[in-house]
Amino acid sequence: MAPISKECDFLVIGGGSGGLACARRASGQWGAKTIAVESNRLGGTCVNVGCVPKKVTWNAAAIAETLHEAAAYGFNIKETSPFDFTTFKHKRDDYIKRLNGIYERNLEKDHVEYLHGRAHLLSKNEVEVVLDSGSKETIRAKKILLATGGHPNIPNTPGAELGITSDGFFDLETLPKRVALVGAGYIAVEMAGMFHHLGSETHLFIRHETFLRTFDPMIQETIIKEYERQGIHIHRNSSQSRIVKKDDGWMTMHYTDKASPDGSTLDIDCLLWAIGRNPEVEDLGLDKAGVHQNAKGQIIADDYQNTNVDNIYSLGDVCGKIELTPVAIAAGRQLANRLFGGPQHRTAKLDYTNIPSVVFAHPEVGSIGLTEQEARDKFGDGNIKVYKTDFTAMYYAMMPAEAKPPTAYKLVCAGEEEKVVGLHILGSGSAEMLQGFGVAVKMGARKRDFDSCVAIHPTSAEELVTMK
Ligand SMILES: Cc1cc2nc3c(=O)[nH]c(=O)nc-3n(C[C@H](O)[C@H](O)[C@H](O)COP(=O)(O)OP(=O)(O)OC[C@H]3O[C@@H](n4cnc5c(N)ncnc54)[C@H](O)[C@@H]3O)c2cc1C
Repeated sequence: MAPISKECDFLVIGGGSGGLACARRASGQWGAKTIAVESNRLGGTCVNVGCVPKKVTWNAAAIAETLHEAAAYGFNIKETSPFDFTTFKHKRDDYIKRLNGIYERNLEKDHVEYLHGRAHLLSKNEVEVVLDSGSKETIRAKKILLATGGHPNIPNTPGAELGITSDGFFDLETLPKRVALVGAGYIAVEMAGMFHHLGSETHLFIRHETFLRTFDPMIQETIIKEYERQGIHIHRNSSQSRIVKKDDGWMTMHYTDKASPDGSTLDIDCLLWAIGRNPEVEDLGLDKAGVHQNAKGQIIADDYQNTNVDNIYSLGDVCGKIELTPVAIAAGRQLANRLFGGPQHRTAKLDYTNIPSVVFAHPEVGSIGLTEQEARDKFGDGNIKVYKTDFTAMYYAMMPAEAKPPTAYKLVCAGEEEKVVGLHILGSGSAEMLQGFGVAVKMGARKRDFDSCVAIHPTSAEELVTMK
């Protein structure tokens, strides 16, 4: 074995949201000698191929939507040339590069030593890092964090390699003319909405009757109907048998769906697989340290981020618990507090209950707590009261009847006290609204607490405090 070239208190493998937050807290706040290793770009999935470029693209799609809607308010806007996707893409790339630089400077500020290379475990205390130059560092660490995230799956359908994944979405230089997306999770739904509003003919292939199937049925049913109203082609109960390259650079997808159970074809110039993500563990050397994984290959960590090996911890997407950036960040900060923050932090951990999440669909979706069915299963039908409303937001008052997107809200309340155990909202502004309502739910608000808050008029959100 190569001689030890560095020693530290804490070695963090993975420079994504969770790893960086943990490394900076451990070193910057608590003074632990910390090394962080990242093999790709600092900021990980969220900054480079996830939340950030996604939201910038969603903003562009929302502007396209607003321009379209402006006519109903009396604006006479003539586009003199089509949306310049290529310029937009390059500006978005520049923004991400600036963020990468900020992340590197933040590590410096917090005295975290940063290595750019690929790390793998040699034993429970030793890690080898293959640096970009090809040279190797062997590091001995008292404690090690595995925060290596995940990567998108590609199925083994013949010709699947002709498609891209969410990573490739951010590499597209031009907007496809006709795109097929396969998947029913939030990434597929968000990207379908963006493609459609930016001007691509959009086909979304789902395996079952609806998408976003972990969300409350109100969300599933309303948003799928709205996507169809907008002109997105939804292929229900679908499967793909093969994809064949055509001479003109396009490809042909062979598929079955509800409308064509005997099979049909679709010519497309872009295919995007959004069928789930796998943990990034293949070359991590987990076996060398004896770290346990579950059947999906995810690292098993408890609520304190402990793995089965006493000095090795794990968090974020590689554990697959709740795959969201703020979850990885919060878990990372709590872990650093617990490991290095002294006796008052010995029991620090992230509370994984009531974590709000949104889908940047068109319109947005937000959810916190239990779905109606989960609440009924947990508390019993007799202990659940549900309040629902659907209406047209005032913003759409000036539009013709057939062009009005829906707004729908649901409160799921439990027990005599009518504690709000689930809040599900769909409609323009839902993402921003949910953060505030999330605080109320997290504090244990009851229906009467909602009612006692005087409405803000005229807003959509006021409907949540005036529900009968
Ligand atoms: C398209 C898309 C949109 C998303 N949108 C949102 C959103 O709107 N809101 C939200 O909260 N979440 C969103 N997410 C999820 C969010 O990006 C992840 O939950 C979050 O990035 C997880 O952080 P992490 O630190 O666990 O892993 P990552 O951010 O994936 O970081 C892991 C890092 O480890 C590095 N690495 C892996 N193996 C090694 C190794 N052996 N050696 C060195 N480095 C290694 C990787 O290069 C990577 O940079 C989105 C994800 C995707 C894909």
